[in-house]
Amino acid sequence: MQTKAYAAQSATAPLAPFGIDRREPGPKDVALQILYCGVCHSDLHTARGEWPGVQFPAVPGHEIVGRVTAVGGAVKKFKPGQLVGVGCMVDSCRGCSACKEGLEQYCEGPVGFTGTYNGPIGGGPNTYGGYSASITVDQDFVLAINHTEKDLAAAAPLLCAGITTWSPLKHWKAGPGKKVGIAGIGGLGHMGIKLAHALGAHVVAFTTSKDKIADAKKLGADEVVISRNDDEMKAHNGSFDLIIDTVAAPHNLDTFLTLLKRDGGLVLVGAPSSPHPSPGAFNLIFKRRSLAGSLIGGIKETQEMLDFCAAHDIVSDIEMIPMRDIDKAYERMLKSDVKYRFVIDMATLG
Ligand code: NAP
Ligand code: ZN
Ligand code: ZN
Repeated sequence: MQTKAYAAQSATAPLAPFGIDRREPGPKDVALQILYCGVCHSDLHTARGEWPGVQFPAVPGHEIVGRVTAVGGAVKKFKPGQLVGVGCMVDSCRGCSACKEGLEQYCEGPVGFTGTYNGPIGGGPNTYGGYSASITVDQDFVLAINHTEKDLAAAAPLLCAGITTWSPLKHWKAGPGKKVGIAGIGGLGHMGIKLAHALGAHVVAFTTSKDKIADAKKLGADEVVISRNDDEMKAHNGSFDLIIDTVAAPHNLDTFLTLLKRDGGLVLVGAPSSPHPSPGAFNLIFKRRSLAGSLIGGIKETQEMLDFCAAHDIVSDIEMIPMRDIDKAYERMLKSDVKYRFVIDMATLG
């Protein structure tokens, strides 16, 4: 099926219209018309060739929501007309221990999981993402959206920003009695605040942007700290169970490690193109602190997160843009000027 899309032809080219071919649905496939697609900072890293192994042309987009148009004969869970989502993955080996545990993002198969775009991660034919009119995906990688249709666009960012913060919050047991920090109030960070708050944790937001303080409180933060203010940071020394770091640029990790209590953990989800300076060993040794990372989330936990958000009336705070404004949106994203996720209205694809 010929499908309209937007692609970067190289790391320095602006995104522009591009025709792609989507497969006709096979027996286990679901075809959907894409109605909205969120704009993740990973899209920008990819379109501008900031990560190793980017294949061009690149069609970004992995916060996809839309309506099922056709299903294969073996598909039982989805039917035409239904609202569904597709996140960061469209396939995996299904046989390795990670896949069997529902952690397809850590697939140990020969090429790892297949990213919705620029996949499989271990190399192979390039996949094209959600900056497009339609997509065909194996039913096992399609999510049911139980939000109302009026919330559909604002639910799109849950497919990456939501699950990427939900997964470490659940893994490191954020909840009542826990003090949880969220560093960086962008797409991921604002969802991290909402989700940690909904899970019952005491939430502290760290930001470099003074103008986000009032918003962070509305999003659910109990306290907001300007991370470049040493005195404000020091007041929280040794007090956090968990800090999730969503910052998309290299920075000093010791400033956050110092804030962890004994056995606390700093979890990196931000994926800057160049490394953070290495933290000092003493900050880790003396309080048995951990420095960890976390990658998106599995399909099962993504559905759990979507259902939790539908039940708790949680969506993203979004700014809708037409497809043609994508490069302007990337520029604003680089200036931390997004409140708090751009979502593309796919009706503007033309
Ligand atoms: P985003 O919307 O651009 O938000 C990033 C936030 O980080 C900014 O809003 C800003 O918050 C803060 N920030 C940016 N530059 C900074 C700097 N130089 N110093 C300090 N703070 C800075 O990006 P996003 O979509 O949330 O993505 C964040 C990162 O996570 C990206 O690297 C992305 O590729 C990565 N990511 C990882 C996964 C995963 O599975 N681990 C999944 C999705 C995305 P303040 O204004 O509040 O300071
Ligand atoms: Zn993403
Ligand atoms: Zn696998």
